[in-house]
Amino acid sequence: QEKVPSDIEIAMAQTPKPITQLAYEIGLRPSEVESYGMYKAKVELSVLDRLAHRKDGKYILVSGITPTPLGEGKSTTTIGLAQALGAHLGRPAFANVRQPSQGPTFGIKGGAAGGGYSQVIPMDEFNLHLTGDIHAVTAANNLLAAALDARMFHEATQSDKALYSRLVPAKKGKRVFAPLMFKRLKKLGIDKTNPDDLTPEEITRFARLDVDPATITWNRVLDVNDRFLRRIVVGKGAAEKGHERETGFDIAVASECMAVLALTTGLADMRERLGNMVVATSKQGDPITADDIGVGGALAVLMKDTIKPNLMQTLEGTPVFVHAGPFANIAHGNSSIIADRVALKLAGTEEGDSSDRVGYVLTEGGFGADMGMEKFCNIKCRVSGLVPDAVIIVATTRALKMHGGGPEVTPGKALHETYTKENLSTLEAGCKNLIKHIENSRKFGLKVIVAINQFSSDTPAELELVRTQSLAGGADAAVVSNHWAEGGPGALALAKAVVAICEGTTPFKFLYDLNIPIADKISAICKEIYGADGIELSETAAKQIETYTRQGFSGLPICMAKTQYSFSHDAKLRGVPTGFTVPIREIRLSAGAGFLYPLLGDMQTMPGLGTRPGFWEVGLDPETGRVVGLF
Ligand code: ADP
Repeated sequence: QEKVPSDIEIAMAQTPKPITQLAYEIGLRPSEVESYGMYKAKVELSVLDRLAHRKDGKYILVSGITPTPLGEGKSTTTIGLAQALGAHLGRPAFANVRQPSQGPTFGIKGGAAGGGYSQVIPMDEFNLHLTGDIHAVTAANNLLAAALDARMFHEATQSDKALYSRLVPAKKGKRVFAPLMFKRLKKLGIDKTNPDDLTPEEITRFARLDVDPATITWNRVLDVNDRFLRRIVVGKGAAEKGHERETGFDIAVASECMAVLALTTGLADMRERLGNMVVATSKQGDPITADDIGVGGALAVLMKDTIKPNLMQTLEGTPVFVHAGPFANIAHGNSSIIADRVALKLAGTEEGDSSDRVGYVLTEGGFGADMGMEKFCNIKCRVSGLVPDAVIIVATTRALKMHGGGPEVTPGKALHETYTKENLSTLEAGCKNLIKHIENSRKFGLKVIVAINQFSSDTPAELELVRTQSLAGGADAAVVSNHWAEGGPGALALAKAVVAICEGTTPFKFLYDLNIPIADKISAICKEIYGADGIELSETAAKQIETYTRQGFSGLPICMAKTQYSFSHDAKLRGVPTGFTVPIREIRLSAGAGFLYPLLGDMQTMPGLGTRPGFWEVGLDPETGRVVGLF
């Protein structure tokens, strides 16, 4: 086999077509396309109205086995399969992927644009800045943080009357409420429109949010791996008069604003969700929202362009939507509902079209299927109302071998021969992990296709073993795919299996009903998906359940914040662990995104830089001005 060049060499060797040409090819009108340079464009949501009458294309989730440090290749498979369907089978085919955070791009090496001959291009633009969506999320998140701290400071340093007269200043001798203030008045049960009519008691209640500082959940964010911002003290300037507070920064994609973007269904909905984000609880026990602070409208303005999906292309010139990149542990780790909807319409059929005109939308869920698929079904599909036609579970022999008891890998060291030579017994033991993911997918009524992402060291007997194990484990199809080395042609067999399996409908169902108690929902996920015996609620978690139930949030779906490296809460337990009880340490609320997220252990929400970060490699070629060294 010929040597495959590095990802960036392959990516840079291919000249992308102008994005306006691709937009034309997929049926967009010029008025629906907002170009950002030559190779990227945002797509106007008006296309959803124009194509509302179309029957949606086929909707396929790409997920994977439990991740290992050896990598499974979900992104690579998503792109390779889209290339096969689109460039070789002549089907409309969209790859919908998440926008990667810039932080890890300069930290640990490893791309998010796929790999080998299955990539999104231009990969440097994909990995950096894109069209600025993450920057807009950062701006919105931090405006809310600033607004909260400023409000607390002003409340702490002013009398009720002074506060009120500044919040509702007199213009030409007349006080007028800002439009958003009526939402707060309504929440407080004050049915008055003239600011001069409020009683002193009402003035106090209106003007004082009375934030309990111990309950603040809103951090600042930045798209840089900056470990020194994890815990900080703010308010040390003289003008803040000693009103200091300990807080911290998260990576930008961990912001709830990003989760809102991924789950929103339209501009009005996004405005509503941003306003509903809860940042703290008052001393009286009420949730305090962005709209209480008056900033919901401004957040929506900062984020208004983010809602349009970003169009890019694969190495073989097929369309890719890159839209939203919510964290896969504390959020749901899926790309956006809006991009999926737009793609499903563009891939859809008109009345009278024959079934071989139907197109395919491949959308990616982060981490293993216990996380990405479970959240895709129970959270994302619940909000969107979209019904998936199938799930693809990506597996590699090397990762399965690790689940079968293969030795740990040390970065920088040569791989142990378990992974580079034929080893059928370890591989067979590891297939249990894959089979559990297949069985879990069945619980949602999904059809399952196993994509065996081929590595050059895989032997025919190994690939055949994974195939037969998958079929015996209940998969509808299991196909070896060599798209990394060969691009679209390498994924043709997989593409044909997808076309065949997606005929007909799926009996899709959710795992739990939203109306059951919070603890029962968590328990359903832990028992059914993770294989746990049950859950153990900490005292804190039990209290939080009480609070959320009292505040009216008990009907939200659950977004588990768990390690991706195990079905269990213990990252060291590979394969299919049994006999464990899942500890629920704490439960947090994302009221705007619309989920509760139980924390099972410490979750790192701001990555750090190691001793030898990836940035050492990155630079510009002075001759061409091109980026070098990104992966
Ligand atoms: P995931 O989406 O599961 O995190 P990626 O698709 O991003 O995984 O792949 C992770 C890394 O592994 C990438 O650098 C990619 O180039 C590499 N990779 C994926 N598939 C193969 C393969 N079949 N052979 C060699 N390298 C691969």
